[in-house]
Amino acid sequence: MKKDIRSLSEEQLIAVFSEIGEPKYRAKQVHQWVWQKAVHSFQEMTNLPKATRQKLEEQFEIRAITIEHQQISEDGTIKFGFRVFDDELIEGVLIPKGDRMTACISSQVGCSLTCKFCATASLDRKRNLDFFEIYDQVVLVDKAAKEHYQKPLTNIVYMGMGEPLLNYANVKRSIEMITSPDGLGMSPKRITLSTVGIAKMIKKLADDDLKINLAISLHAPTNQKRGQMMPINESNDIDAVVDALDYWYEKTKSRVTHQYVMLKNYNESEEDAKQLAEIVKRIPSKVNLIEYNPIDNGLFERTSGNRAMNFLRMLESKNVIANIRRSRGKDIDAACGQLANKNG
Ligand code: SF4
Repeated sequence: MKKDIRSLSEEQLIAVFSEIGEPKYRAKQVHQWVWQKAVHSFQEMTNLPKATRQKLEEQFEIRAITIEHQQISEDGTIKFGFRVFDDELIEGVLIPKGDRMTACISSQVGCSLTCKFCATASLDRKRNLDFFEIYDQVVLVDKAAKEHYQKPLTNIVYMGMGEPLLNYANVKRSIEMITSPDGLGMSPKRITLSTVGIAKMIKKLADDDLKINLAISLHAPTNQKRGQMMPINESNDIDAVVDALDYWYEKTKSRVTHQYVMLKNYNESEEDAKQLAEIVKRIPSKVNLIEYNPIDNGLFERTSGNRAMNFLRMLESKNVIANIRRSRGKDIDAACGQLANKNG
């Protein structure tokens, strides 16, 4: 199989160009075409001689992802089904809210983890996405934001299918290209990586200092409850995660967001609020209370609006900064935890 030309760094591209007897500046032109202009064929590289384009085509390909289908929610959220080169499907979402245009993107085809509140868990993990496939999602969602709402993307969340910290190298490289002036030039402060909490990799992320935001799927205040919802808690329990977050804050000075999905009669009592407050106050952080979107397994139910509000007040009375996050796009299965390649 030919290599995707985007897997080469600029230096590697320069080396290839010198091997095929082409000047260095041509390599820079190609680099610009594939990243800044995000073209998906060599024929579009119009400032390159035809013969050069031909040579490139013989050796390389561009494994661009394409939009297979899209659905628009009554609240304006758009869910995309993206087809990748080996015919697998992944999903991404555009969430418009005021001036904010947020892309929620996937990092893996399926997911190897089995969080009980998440529809993606029903899809086996097939493979990691390459960094350029992650980048492509951002480019396509940005284009859609401009077409539908005449605004460019303002924010990116790594919260779609897959666990980003289990595809670390590609996720990191995608962030580097999204934020590079040679790529999309977005501020890393506009990027949030959301993880179930893999302690070792949170520390690595802190060491690599990408200047992005971090969100943690905490979801329950005790190991017993969290373990029932998220099997990953067995190897990365609450203490291990908080310890890693402590390290993260020490290194980056960036406040963490805890995500907490509200489940009826499960994690919404006064005792739950008390225990949750004790955990989150161990590091500078805030809590997003997330409305649960029931999935087919029927294990959990959504908390009522009133109880969610009570829970919020209980947290606030304990000096925890918290918000309730209303779900977007639930009528098209585009909301948090609902991505499972369903179309219609
Ligand atoms: S919540 Fe994230 S990590 Fe858990 S199963 Fe769903 S996609 Fe995977």
